Amino acid sequence: MNEQPIELEEGGTVDVLIPLGLDQAYSYAVPAGLVLKLGDVVQVPLGPRETTGVVWSRGAGRGGNLKRVTGRLDMPPLDPALMKLVDWVAWYTLAPKGSVLALALRRPPDDTPERPRLGVRLVGAPPARMTPARMRAIAAAEGGLLIAKSALAEAASVSAAVIDSLVDAGTFAVEPLPRDAIAALPDPDHAKPTLSEGQSSAAAALVASVQANGFGVTLLEGVTGSGKTEVYFEAVAEAIRQDRQSLILMPEIALTAQFIDRFEARFGVRPGLWHSAVTGRKRERLQAAIASGEAKVVAGARSALFLPYRTLGLIVVDEEHEAAYKQEDGVSYHARDMAVVRGRIENAPVILTSATPSLETRINAERGRYVHLKLPERFGGRQLPTLGLVDLRRDKPERGRWISDALVKAIQVNLEAKEQSLLFLNRRGYAPLTLCRDCGHRFQCPNCSAWLVDHRFRRALVCHHCGHVERRPHECPACHAPESLTACGPGVERLAEEVATRFPQARSIVLSSDFPGGTERLKQELMAVAEGEFDIVIGTQLVAKGHNFPGMTLVGVIDADLGLTSGDPRAAERTFQVLRQVTGRAGRGEKPGRALLQTHDPGHPVLKALISGDPERFYAAETASREAAGLPPFGRLAGLIISANSQPESESHARALARCAEVPEGVFVLGPAEAPLAVLRGRHRMRLIVKTTRDVNLQDYLRAWLKRAPKPKGSVRVAVDVDPQSF
Ligand code: ADP
Ligand code: ZN
Repeated sequence: MNEQPIELEEGGTVDVLIPLGLDQAYSYAVPAGLVLKLGDVVQVPLGPRETTGVVWSRGAGRGGNLKRVTGRLDMPPLDPALMKLVDWVAWYTLAPKGSVLALALRRPPDDTPERPRLGVRLVGAPPARMTPARMRAIAAAEGGLLIAKSALAEAASVSAAVIDSLVDAGTFAVEPLPRDAIAALPDPDHAKPTLSEGQSSAAAALVASVQANGFGVTLLEGVTGSGKTEVYFEAVAEAIRQDRQSLILMPEIALTAQFIDRFEARFGVRPGLWHSAVTGRKRERLQAAIASGEAKVVAGARSALFLPYRTLGLIVVDEEHEAAYKQEDGVSYHARDMAVVRGRIENAPVILTSATPSLETRINAERGRYVHLKLPERFGGRQLPTLGLVDLRRDKPERGRWISDALVKAIQVNLEAKEQSLLFLNRRGYAPLTLCRDCGHRFQCPNCSAWLVDHRFRRALVCHHCGHVERRPHECPACHAPESLTACGPGVERLAEEVATRFPQARSIVLSSDFPGGTERLKQELMAVAEGEFDIVIGTQLVAKGHNFPGMTLVGVIDADLGLTSGDPRAAERTFQVLRQVTGRAGRGEKPGRALLQTHDPGHPVLKALISGDPERFYAAETASREAAGLPPFGRLAGLIISANSQPESESHARALARCAEVPEGVFVLGPAEAPLAVLRGRHRMRLIVKTTRDVNLQDYLRAWLKRAPKPKGSVRVAVDVDPQSF
């Protein structure tokens, strides 16, 4: 777009945006002899220091007594499309523009030389003295391939010392490993699947949108197991043929081992992977490959939106309804919405996929703003699971137990048939609350208004909001009664105990984000589940989505009411989505599946809609209730969180803010009231909610208000959350 150098006579000025929490670009004088253009990365003085910034616009006046730009850094300039995106995100979210820039700005290259990783290769004869360990190591290195030392040690189950001794003996030679291939070229025709009729016509529409090479949004709505991935891969293949790049956004990139395997099976190579665990040199190299256009496909977490693509030809937002797309800290943006913005800026098509689209997306599709493609059937004639409710008022497990007789029987049948069962409970840890039976003392987080969750694996009480950890004591800290502490309610760990006593012969596993051993182990266990190594899986929402477990034929939902009782207007939508996702884990393989949902409220509209198997019923009811309440997408919504180190400070600022709110027609200001987590990480939080009709420009309204309002003093902070996901 604007690649023209700015013609700058001596004494001209530029406005430089600095990637810190500042909203405005600062003006600097351009020294003689320096030619700058928009997007150039420059060094400028800021207070007593030097800092890096980006030339954002031509300055208004003459240099006068402004400070001067120190110099231009030897870095690629920020792309005009990215500059536009930064401007847009900052405008929409009200985040300081500098904070948004920080998401997009590449760090200056690290110029310490990269140390090569070392590998070993079998080059010589075995040593005279052989041991079983040495034999295994040599056998594993057979064929003379260069292999990383750690990988060889693992493959042969030997220690690194065994390998070192074979290096000393001359059997192995040490050589540098080649760098990981970051931008191997995917082959669009590597292994094309045969698509069903429905899949083919959806794929054809997506391919046409890539060929048209213009902006447009398509919702690809398909039931779980309908083959959405196979279908949008065709659009990716077309972008590769057109020599343009694709971005595939995923909600939880760390757990996408299955996705990567499928991508590799389809295109012959792995995609470029972008997420927070990709660091250092690898990150830099991937960024460079994206900027040069060499990396054709990037699969990434939401931050991949801010990468410098050279020729972006397609954006896919996988599982577009996922809450993980909303960034809550710092710049609070929704990656799905910003993906649509980036698509418009780049003039590229955007595909949103989901089995349970968000209401916003659904309505955009119904109103014709998005193209709506549907895959109503599972691939290969597989049936959706049959769903049933268990009325817990009648079939009540005894005290301290959570699995009803009906569900126990169903699990038993599955065990006998050697089929897998999934028990879903969206609660990490052992018990959500611990209390003293004698005095009623409850364990609360010292930093948050939240109960501490009992984690038996870790032998600790943990706050799920701030991470505070303390040992679980043996006696009550308040009344010192021994043996009086009681766990209240179930978490997945406690459910696992019940499974172990009721089905002692079953191989069971608990899968949640607390899994000991971290993401790598978790990935392996997910694979093991897919391969049928466990009979009963007990899991949180971590196992609800995306995974394909072919042997899973029963899903038991322990508490279908969890989430429905909160006052949050999105509670119904979220519960509907998670229950549809998790029950969709059943029956994806050869055998049909079924799901049983335990509830105290079998008449609840969300559960009735779910059981009816007709999502339209849910969407129609939910659309009507949002419309009646003027909630998004029928109205606009923002939350203002006012926090401070003390309650009076946050409350008085919240009141001051509320006092200077103007309420013209179409604007409603609610509060101030305590925020849902009234204390979080030691900060006292109040909240104001702004609701407007659609014809009000919410951003302009908020800006004008905050400008009028007294500036926060002392420890007070005001955070704006446009389109809050929960309130
Ligand atoms: P979704 O994302 O809609 O839940 P997937 O794309 O994961 O569905 O597909 C479900 C399963 O069906 C996967 O194992 C996939 O490989 C398989 N599948 C879907 N379509 C085809 C096809 N046309 N040919 C072969 N296998 C397919
Ligand atoms: Zn806490």
